[in-house]
Amino acid sequence: MEMQGKSVFGGVAIGRLSIYKKSDNVVKRVKIQDTDAEFKRFEDATVKAKEQLAALYDKAMKEVGETSAAIFEVHQMMLDDLDFRESVANMIKTQNVNAEYAVAVSGDNFSTMFAAMDDDYMKARAADVKDISNRVISVLQGTEDAKLNSDEPVILVAEDLAPSETVQLDKSLLLSFVTRYGSTNSHTAILARTMNIPALIGVDYDESIDGHFGIVDGFKGVLYIDPDEATIEKYRKKQEEEAEKARLLQELKGMPDITKDGRKVKLYANIGGVGDVPAVLQNDASGIGLFRSEFLYLGSETFPTEEEQFNAYRSVVQTMAGKKVIIRTLDIGADKQVDYFNLEHEDNPAMGYRAIRICLEQPDIFKTQLRAIYRASSYGSIAIMFPMIISIDEVRRIKKIVAEVKEELDSQGIEYGDVELGIMIETPAAVWMTEELAKEVDFFSIGTNDLTQYTLAIDRQNPRLDSFYDAHHPAVLRAIQMTVENGHKGGAWVGICGELGADTTLTETFLRMGVDELSVTPSRILAVRSAIRNCDLSK
Ligand code: PEP
Ligand code: MG
Repeated sequence: MEMQGKSVFGGVAIGRLSIYKKSDNVVKRVKIQDTDAEFKRFEDATVKAKEQLAALYDKAMKEVGETSAAIFEVHQMMLDDLDFRESVANMIKTQNVNAEYAVAVSGDNFSTMFAAMDDDYMKARAADVKDISNRVISVLQGTEDAKLNSDEPVILVAEDLAPSETVQLDKSLLLSFVTRYGSTNSHTAILARTMNIPALIGVDYDESIDGHFGIVDGFKGVLYIDPDEATIEKYRKKQEEEAEKARLLQELKGMPDITKDGRKVKLYANIGGVGDVPAVLQNDASGIGLFRSEFLYLGSETFPTEEEQFNAYRSVVQTMAGKKVIIRTLDIGADKQVDYFNLEHEDNPAMGYRAIRICLEQPDIFKTQLRAIYRASSYGSIAIMFPMIISIDEVRRIKKIVAEVKEELDSQGIEYGDVELGIMIETPAAVWMTEELAKEVDFFSIGTNDLTQYTLAIDRQNPRLDSFYDAHHPAVLRAIQMTVENGHKGGAWVGICGELGADTTLTETFLRMGVDELSVTPSRILAVRSAIRNCDLSK
């Protein structure tokens, strides 16, 4: 059987299909007779939840360092908390209710109690209690994360995947994503490209395919279920051909990013976290042109502290060993939602309270991040850029906050390095203001994903509009050209960090426009290097 979908990233994956069920944790109250057996269910679920937390701890230790990982240790300890366990046991035994219900009610009670405390630290524990009770309920209901259900790599099939879910998946167990919903320009699609795995959206599957053998053809957008031997053989060959192509590109490692006529180009990589840095090095990028720092927030249960962020940024700059790392400040909102920000529902989130707007309205969050970045800057070469800019006034307000942060660090005797400041050009307003904006900053980085969305008035999250989302539209290309010209006039260098930067059919066009830097997903570095090296701008 074969099903047609839409490709988000090319490549071939062959393996078992595994349906990812979300833990929506709708808990019903059910009367039970055997209360001892029910308490035993709770005990078993607790043991399993602790195993999951231990695994998350190890993963976080590797990817984001000890301070971030510590929360998973705290959660393990909280699961052993006697009062919580007593409350659950008591409910099961005296009210004859199911374990899920007892955990949900006890979790709610404890979390309300913590929330009402004066001490800020204790208050913050309310979210942790909710989190651990949800985890236990997920285990009881058999809806725990797919990553933990499988110890062999699988093709993950899901209704949809939010970026926060995607970052928590164990990348080593993922051969491919297949989803029913989602759009090709969403952040989940971007994550699939970063992970360098084939991904499809818009596949109308039914649950019976769970556990069956499958093949994903990320070039044609097709999912094969229980394919015959001939098809398997054909795709194994295709996989080998792809591996061969990748091997050939490997020969470009160590080669400079320079056109035939001698124009040097900065070829950088986009990352979402510390875990992506090995791919940057393997693919031989000369720097990091976009560190989507919001993924530190998406992967966390609560606001990452200054120390946690500092550790993550320092680890990235140290690993990059003197190569430039451009950190984009928090770009939360729209499709990147985090519960603990408590953002209100909006009818138009893409044009809503997001990114720099949140940072300017909540300077404490912003300053914590800036302090962490500046502290990390003494360990390597860091630049900062700010997302979703629309005006000169915003840039001036940002620079004032940056100056305050530096003064604070000075007065505390904390060292920091020279940090270039840049802005993302991803709104038409910013494009029109590039002449003035260039005088305020060191560089521009064009975010073509949002720039296309706002220029064409096409919601990048809406799969129905995928065919209208045309990043090659002349309006988008003219906006890029104008940005480069005005940037250079005002003394700012100009890069592209949106997905369009990796489109090798446009590499020559961008270089002719004068683009100084291209920042692309690590898996595209060598293909773009090849395109750069094939350009002759003298002709
Ligand atoms: C962009 O908008 O092009 C961009 C790089 O930022 P993001 O995709 O994270 O919105
Ligand atoms: Mg953007």
